[in-house]
Amino acid sequence: MEFPYSLRDTQRDIIKDVKEVLENSSHLVFEAPTGSGKTIAVLYPVVRYALKNNKKIIYLVHTNSQEQQVIKEAKRLGVFAVALQGRANLCPLARERFQGGNAEELSLLCSRLKKDVINGKREACPYYSNYMESGEEILEFIKVVHTAEEVFKKAMELGVCPYEAIKDAIKEATLIVAPYIYFLYPFIRRNLIEKMGYALQDIILIVDEAHNLPEVAREMRSMELTIRSLELMESEALEYENPRILGHTIADIGEFLKESIYAMEKFLQEEEGLIPHYAFEEEISKFLGIGMNDFEELSRQLIYYGEMVREDKIKRRKLPRSHIYHAGSFLYLWKEAYSYEFIRLIRGGKTPSIEIYSMDPSLITDVIKGVHSSIHLSGTLALENYRNLTGLPEDTVMKRYPSPFPQENLKVLYVDDVTTRYGEVEKHIDNIASYLERIIKMGRNTAIFFPSYSLLSKIEERMKIDALVEKRGMRQYALFEMVERFRGEGGAILSVLGGRLYEGMNFPGEQLEIVVIVGVPYPKPTPRVKMLERYYESKFGNGWEYAFKIPALIKIRQAIGRLIRSEEDRGVAVILDKRAPLFRGEIPAKRAENLIKEIENFFKR
Ligand code: SF4
Repeated sequence: MEFPYSLRDTQRDIIKDVKEVLENSSHLVFEAPTGSGKTIAVLYPVVRYALKNNKKIIYLVHTNSQEQQVIKEAKRLGVFAVALQGRANLCPLARERFQGGNAEELSLLCSRLKKDVINGKREACPYYSNYMESGEEILEFIKVVHTAEEVFKKAMELGVCPYEAIKDAIKEATLIVAPYIYFLYPFIRRNLIEKMGYALQDIILIVDEAHNLPEVAREMRSMELTIRSLELMESEALEYENPRILGHTIADIGEFLKESIYAMEKFLQEEEGLIPHYAFEEEISKFLGIGMNDFEELSRQLIYYGEMVREDKIKRRKLPRSHIYHAGSFLYLWKEAYSYEFIRLIRGGKTPSIEIYSMDPSLITDVIKGVHSSIHLSGTLALENYRNLTGLPEDTVMKRYPSPFPQENLKVLYVDDVTTRYGEVEKHIDNIASYLERIIKMGRNTAIFFPSYSLLSKIEERMKIDALVEKRGMRQYALFEMVERFRGEGGAILSVLGGRLYEGMNFPGEQLEIVVIVGVPYPKPTPRVKMLERYYESKFGNGWEYAFKIPALIKIRQAIGRLIRSEEDRGVAVILDKRAPLFRGEIPAKRAENLIKEIENFFKR
């Protein structure tokens, strides 16, 4: 197998390190700039090793565009790869009739419909029925290696189920491309590995855009109960004869739970607050007149009735969603999750909610240690921090590969007379607005990233110049239209760090020449973030870095990284905050004596 491109030095280094890691059956965490060709540099040695040593590869992606990139490279390598997505994307019935169904609901529904088809009720799922009768053509199509969306389109032409076809193709494939949850959820992972016909230790795992993994893992173990879902639980109970649990109707229990959530608002500090141990249980006990020991019984019975609702909905060919079930599961987790890594939160606003939040991603990602080798790659990664958060072994190889692009193509500047520091920002707003106006007037294509929508709108109000603005909650089509306008006409575009514009869109060449980062985007010191700081302090001894510094650093570097994605790209990044030197070791920013002049000089060269 030949490397399908002309090889760059960075790629040569990556290939060498990946080979070593595979031979030693160990783990590699690395950072290499976007555009450096790291996907193929990882895939090439991994595919060769897997074919030679009878291993299988799971390549985890965070977005569909990453999946497309991996499939493109797999085609060039000539390896049989299958792109897997959840039923929400690949089940035609989910797209037609059951939009918004989650993985568990769609799985329940699908199992029942398939059973009905097998028992002769063809109409239960015609796509499955057609696939059972004549699935050969779609399976042949999949063998040529396609993205999940391409398989979906072809399956629709043939009237067969793409999800089932892809599942059946997994066994033959060397490379499976899948969203994170396919490996992180124990139940889904077991199914996947069983389908592949290999043991965990025969899997080589690749995690793309790995900086996202810790937060995805945290969210997987967290759960929320909202006032809205309790209102829906009450309606659901009334629809199903409102059964009694511990002497109360389910609708009344919903009402008491709502009251108990409102009672937690006394713990709010601004929009969020920590709920002390047992405070919520005591409130419920008071309302329901039950003992603390009955709490488990309450959750179990809610789950029991919720399952009956789900079963009934499946029979009626409806999405098996039960708000009674959700409340029961939430209360069950609430009671169980009393280890140090969980916190309980109240969130304020018009419709408050309570949340169980898991602070430790390693409890989910620990399983990675069981694979043959794992390779974690990203354009921006704090290596040691990532290794510790995910619980990878001490001897994990950590590498940072230099940019293959000319260093002189990027200039990073900061100014030291403004800041967005909490408590100081108000007196700097006019000055920041003035900087932005002067930068925009230069007529270069400029993206300006703010730490929050509220600061964006405050500063935008003071600016006396036109710019495109990404508004909070903007519809996808409106955002795309705005981006197309920016690409076509140029000018300035205002957005937030971590927003959709910042994450997933490319602006090659002169489409983007200047990136401005307004302030240092430290997370807001909410009770949740402070608890994360405390947790990491006790676990790793440097909580502030984990909870504040590294999230800010990653955001700044990602924003800067948008400028240079090929040899031809040139650009200037500007940090409008006097705190920029705190990142001196990681971001080589130079203090600007005369910002506008220095930018002009850069582009004159
Ligand atoms: S068999 Fe396919 S089309 Fe039918 S419900 Fe399951 S995933 Fe959807």
